[in-house]
Amino acid sequence: MPPCAYVKVVEPTILLVIPCDILWELVNASPVIARNLLYKLSRRMRSSNATLSDTLQVKDHFEQAANHDALTGLTNRRGLEVIFSSLNSPGRQAYLPLSIALIDIDHFKHFNDNYGHQAGDAVLATLGQHFKQHVRTHDVVARYGGEEFLIVLPSTALQPAIRVVDRLRQMMAHQRVQSEGQELPSVTFSAGLSEWSEEETLEQVIEAADTALYRAKKEGRNRVCW
Ligand code: GH3
Ligand code: MG
Ligand code: MG
Repeated sequence: MPPCAYVKVVEPTILLVIPCDILWELVNASPVIARNLLYKLSRRMRSSNATLSDTLQVKDHFEQAANHDALTGLTNRRGLEVIFSSLNSPGRQAYLPLSIALIDIDHFKHFNDNYGHQAGDAVLATLGQHFKQHVRTHDVVARYGGEEFLIVLPSTALQPAIRVVDRLRQMMAHQRVQSEGQELPSVTFSAGLSEWSEEETLEQVIEAADTALYRAKKEGRNRVCW
């Protein structure tokens, strides 16, 4: 007879195979057997559910780790790809107007050279939290690269987006960062913004934000351009 089921066990087990018709005869003949069978089935369902939920939790954990940056806890490049693909879906209208900001810390190489890489890391982590705390919960703050951040502002036209990012920039002067018990000087950033128009691809909006960022650097840094 070909196998009709497979059993996996975690401890030495005696397997009793009862043909279906005999099983139903036993159930009909004895409420004790019926109750016993129900008890075993419900225990088995509970243990399968627990295994399933453990598996889902592990999957969630790995997905969370893969899509987030370990230093800042922000969405990383990979996580951003996932968000972008959902933004590129036919339902994208719902998010428009949508603005994108590219933020790059000014003279960060000098900062690392003067205060050390560990201090630089503390600045990146604090800045990430600063951005996250001062935007709306549905805005996405991502670590885009080394000392570059990208903020997606759904339902936000260019002018309000400029105000949001410029407020973040002005707050930087009051942002305190400590590393190894030492208070570090504040850093500044430059930002480039662009609003997503319907005929553009997301790559084009990011490119436009990058061009604006380049101009912000060229015009003297510590400013927001668009
Ligand atoms: P600019 O104002 O033109 O942006 O100057 P910059 O020095 O910030 O730009 P540049 O691209 O020359 O240097 C970026 C620096 O960012 C160099 C690198 O050491 C630093 N950096 C990138 N990633 C990290 C990181 O994870 N931790 C630390 N501490 N520094 C980083
Ligand atoms: Mg850079
Ligand atoms: Mg920089």
